[in-house]
Amino acid sequence: MTSRTGSAPRIDLHAHSTASDGTLTPAELVGAAFDAGLDVLAITDHDTTAGWAPAVGALPPGLRLIRGAELSCRWSGAQPAVPLHLLAYLFDPDHPELVAELARVRAAREERGERMVGLLRADGIDVNWPDILAGAGGGTVGRPHIAQALIRAGLVDSIREAFGPDWLGERYRLPKEDIDVFRAVRLVREAGGVPVFAHPRATRRGRVVPDELIAELAAAGLAGLETDHEDHSPAEREHVRALAAELGLLVTGSSDFHGTHKTVQLGAFSTSVEAYERIVAEGVTEVASADPGISPIAARLG
Ligand code: AMP
Ligand code: ZN
Ligand code: FE
Ligand code: FE
Repeated sequence: MTSRTGSAPRIDLHAHSTASDGTLTPAELVGAAFDAGLDVLAITDHDTTAGWAPAVGALPPGLRLIRGAELSCRWSGAQPAVPLHLLAYLFDPDHPELVAELARVRAAREERGERMVGLLRADGIDVNWPDILAGAGGGTVGRPHIAQALIRAGLVDSIREAFGPDWLGERYRLPKEDIDVFRAVRLVREAGGVPVFAHPRATRRGRVVPDELIAELAAAGLAGLETDHEDHSPAEREHVRALAAELGLLVTGSSDFHGTHKTVQLGAFSTSVEAYERIVAEGVTEVASADPGISPIAARLG
């Protein structure tokens, strides 16, 4: 694959738009990816494919787009269940069972957000749900939207503080009605997609799952592990890389860009061409490209 800049191709496989809790619209996101010099971007909003069409419609020539999503999952092998994120790439967005599951999770997120706001209000904290829902602008609602309300109310100074234990990190955090992770892997594969476990060792975000579970998921159809991510320490990255090698899984590196909801920049981490090509070869949806003459095969092999 040739890169736009002449150096090694830059492939960022995890980014959020206003279709969930990012701050750039899907069109702005692909524009920003182009400006950042990326060759490939994956749009991976939480539990939705709503950003796909506007992102494709605004795709600048020279940038390839992988259509994906980040599914809210849980593993029930521990008490309480461990929440985790599954990236899904290049799946059929009309697969009925997957569509229904994503709609269910989005509805449950709204209910949960409203209940979290209820807890805050019961403690005399002046935030209100209609404003927060409006702030999400029709995208998948998450804690970053509630964090913004806490900032607007002058109760915290930063998103980081809002995710602290006194606020949305623990005290006012409620569990979501997530998808069982084995069911999610099965559904993504049935829909022709490629499932990759997002930031699997990010201990700084909370509890993580044991390696044995990752081995079981690999046997159930998991394709890869997101290795290079800002929430992994260097030791955690090496651990995940070794585990992937042992299990025959591909590894990815990604920014998990959220616009101004996070400090990380597009392209902060990159995925190898080999891993990209494996994902493209396994997915049912074509890589999107605005370039005339780039067939899906050309987009695959460059
Ligand atoms: P939710 O999906 O509602 O549980 O919210 C989780 C989202 O908040 C994820 O997309 C994370 O990227 C984001 N998030 C989690 N922890 C932090 C943090 N410390 N600072 C900023 N964003 C965070
Ligand atoms: Zn997010
Ligand atoms: Fe995530
Ligand atoms: Fe993410």
